[in-house]
Amino acid sequence: MHKVTLIRGDGIGPEIAEATRRCVDAAGAKIQWDIQEAGVDIMATAGTPLPDQTLQSIDKTEVTLKAPITTPVGTGFRSINVHLRQHFDLYACLRPCKSYQGVRSRYEDIDLVIVRENTEDLYAGIEFEKGTDAVNELVQWINSHSKRQIRPNSGISIKPISVAGSQRIVKFAFDYARQNGRKKVTSVHKANIMKHTDGLWLEVSRQVAKQYPDIEFEDRIVDNMCMQLVQKPELYDVIVLPNLYGDILSDLCAGLVGGLGVAPGANIGDKKAVFEATHGSAPKYKGLNKVNPTALILSAVMMLRHLNLRAEADKLEHAVAAVIAEGRDVTYDLKPNRDDPTAVGTSEMADAIIAKM
Ligand code: NAD
Repeated sequence: MHKVTLIRGDGIGPEIAEATRRCVDAAGAKIQWDIQEAGVDIMATAGTPLPDQTLQSIDKTEVTLKAPITTPVGTGFRSINVHLRQHFDLYACLRPCKSYQGVRSRYEDIDLVIVRENTEDLYAGIEFEKGTDAVNELVQWINSHSKRQIRPNSGISIKPISVAGSQRIVKFAFDYARQNGRKKVTSVHKANIMKHTDGLWLEVSRQVAKQYPDIEFEDRIVDNMCMQLVQKPELYDVIVLPNLYGDILSDLCAGLVGGLGVAPGANIGDKKAVFEATHGSAPKYKGLNKVNPTALILSAVMMLRHLNLRAEADKLEHAVAAVIAEGRDVTYDLKPNRDDPTAVGTSEMADAIIAKM
């Protein structure tokens, strides 16, 4: 029996969490769910959107399936999702992008995986507002130490990229490739322009690649990578990127396979892993039993593989693929026309998936 924390989230979270839990159980996975709350709903009673009890559960079970959470305003949390990633050092964001027959998209047969670094780069949150004493001091220092000058009245965001941070994410990408029968890792950067950050990233990527002679390695400059993904996405397998490029290319790749309704994800550290859909809490659909549960169900498929429950993962993924391919018992977003009266609700789509197993 595997103990897993299930965070129901808010907005559409509880509906898709329940649909997903039922599907995972029906796949025969031996999971003992520890159901926990986070988000704006629990804030009303607990006074915090992230109760200690939830954090303790994630800490104890080490594997969490998390439904979306609204970013609450004025609670001291910039975002609970970001807070969880930082608190548990979930440094790898994993986003598989795979075509499923029946999902409308411009492309077919895409099967690639984005591995995004989650803790460094321009997203480290180290920023200085224009006109403040801190920024003035920093600009003065930079102007006296660099051949280039920063204009007055500039705001500054810092881009730290470390050897240790790059090593662990590139190793993660290669290990993932090895464990999942993938053939190639592509490291993405802009090393020609940013020699001391992206250049370092590329250098570390090349060093780590030497330890994995069984996996092909190549690098791409990020702008070229964008063009290649739009023109020849089938050439790519596992793509590893620093935080900012990873964020942008994750969405680009989600777009290649049909969008947010079918885009799963995970945030993984050395000890803990949190599996979650790429999409948010879509508050306008809350309680309507309307939205597509697929992205969270496919996140659960990733979780089952992480737990080494591979047969159960395959069974669930095949059932989801079959229901989508049939196109009958699917939510509005998977119908050719969004007003299609034959669209089913969240829980009915889960029923159809369960019936296929
Ligand atoms: P969103 O992803 O919640 O919704 C955008 C639109 O996408 C929806 O209006 C809907 O049309 C569509 N959509 C999303 N999920 C869908 C599904 N499962 N099935 C069908 N259609 C779906 O993005 P948003 O409106 O920008 O964000 C709402 C809240 O969610 C914000 O507070 C945001 O901070 C939060 N958020 C949370 C997470 C997370 O928990 N990991 C991720 C992104 C956004």
